[in-house]
Order: sequence, then C-alpha cells, then structure tokens
Amino acid sequence: MLKGKVAIVTGGTRGIGLAVVRAYLQNGAKVALFGSRKETVDKALAELKNENASYEVIGMWPNLAEFDEVNNAVKEVVKTFGKIDILVNNAGISAREPLSQYTPENFKKIMDLNVTAVFNGCKAVEPFMREAKSGCIINTSSMVSLYGQPSGVGYPTSKFAVNGLTRSLARELGRAGIRVNAVAPGVTRTDMVAALPPEMVERVAAPIPLGRIGEPEEVANVFLFLASDMASYVTGDVISVDGAAQT
Ligand code: NAD
Repeated sequence: MLKGKVAIVTGGTRGIGLAVVRAYLQNGAKVALFGSRKETVDKALAELKNENASYEVIGMWPNLAEFDEVNNAVKEVVKTFGKIDILVNNAGISAREPLSQYTPENFKKIMDLNVTAVFNGCKAVEPFMREAKSGCIINTSSMVSLYGQPSGVGYPTSKFAVNGLTRSLARELGRAGIRVNAVAPGVTRTDMVAALPPEMVERVAAPIPLGRIGEPEEVANVFLFLASDMASYVTGDVISVDGAAQT
C-alpha cells in the first residue's frame, strides 16, 4: 500500500508509533523514526532489523519542541531517502494531576510536545510536500479530544489543539495536494497500559461497547489507510479508533 513512499514517524520507538512504523515498513515504505533518546531509537531499529533485515529504516532524536532541530532532521531524511511523502506526528505525553496540583511548567511541557512539536513537524515538511505537489500528514489525537477528561487538563487541551491544527491545515494545504488528518485512539494497549493490573484494565474495558481496549496494530491500520492512496479524498478529518468508547 505504500510502495516507494517515504515516511517520518515521531514517537516511533514504542507503542502506537512503533506499530505505525512496522505497518509502513511491511507495506513497502522507507521510514525515519524519531524518538527522544539515542538508546531507545537504537533499540527500536535493532528490533525492526531483526524482524526483517531488508527494511529501509533510520532513526533520529531531534528535540521536537525546537523548530531548527526538527527542520534539520527533516532535511537529513530528504538527503537520505530523496523525498518525504508522509509525516506522522505521534509523539505525545500525558499527565493526570488535578488543576490544584498542575504546575505551569507541566502544562508548558505537555503543550511543547503535544502541540508545538506537531506545528514544527508540519512546518518543516511543508516546503518539500508543496514542491512535490503531494503529501500526507497524520497527527495522533485522542478520544479525550472530543469531550475532555475529569483530571489532567493539559492533555485533552493539547489534543483539542491537535484537532484544530489538523482541520485548519487541511484547509490551508489542500490545494497544494497535501492531505492532513488525525487519528483519535481510545485506550490502547501500550507500555503504560501493560503495566496496569489486569483487574484495572478490565474495569476500563467494561463500558466500551466493543468490550475491550484496543491493540496498537488496530490503531496503526488506520494510519496505514490514511497514508495510502486509498484515502486520496480524505482530509481534514479526525478518525476515532476507540471501540465506540466515546459515543
Ligand atoms: P508511549 O508512551 O508508548 O510512546 C510515546 C512515544 O513518544 C515514544 O516513542 C516516545 O519516545 C515518544 N516521546 C515521548 N516524549 C518524547 C519527546 N520529548 N521527544 C520525542 N519523542 C518523545 O505512548 P503511546 O500510547 O504509544 O502514545 C502515542 C500517541 O498516542 C501519543 O500522542 C498519545 O497521546 C496518543 N494516545 C495514546 C493512547 C493510549 O491509550 N495509549 C490513547 C489516545 C492517544
């Protein structure tokens, strides 16, 4: 589905991001994964090469909150693979403190990675996609971007912003042939969830109409569809992958 395409996936070292990297590689793309540290990037690259030595995958660890670092990393990817067709802005962090304990520093930290980094990525790839007259940007939102959550205000606020950025850029960049969408996962079995006691996971899963939490691969499938030519008329949308948890 992605033969000949070049993709960047931020937060590609584990969880949903790593599942997206794997899906893209399995479908013929060349991938640059961006992580936070050399050690975790190297570990992910080793895991992928072990699965299939012919995968064309490289790794970098720019500070995503700093435009110049992201811009240089994107240029490096273009130098290595010749172009950039797909950008997945997936790196994200959350915090659940109530407002009384939420520090301004923590709020800024969440906004820096969950929002500013998304802006930085979009801005850095735009000239290359505009020149190619085609491109695809997919941002990772969350089911909490629809109704908010009862504690940890920074995280849902950041994901509402991701939706706004997605819908706005889709309108700004459509005529340049660039599609911009977001995926809003529900509770997904990443490291964070895997560390919880099974009873707690059951409690979280009980009200979900599909009766279970999601797997990273199920979320990655939607990133695969959106990046492919099958989604050629899909832009400006936020697609839920949450077992109807929020409906
Ligand atoms: P994870 O914690 O397993 O992975 C997060 C990724 O982000 C890692 O690859 C990590 O290296 C990267 N990252 C974290 N801080 C970074 C930094 N400062 N610079 C660069 N990279 C950094 O999380 P996940 O669950 O796979 O989450 C991925 C995305 O999905 C996030 O945007 C998250 O908000 C969103 N999401 C997750 C869930 C869920 O239930 N897991 C639900 C909804 C949305």
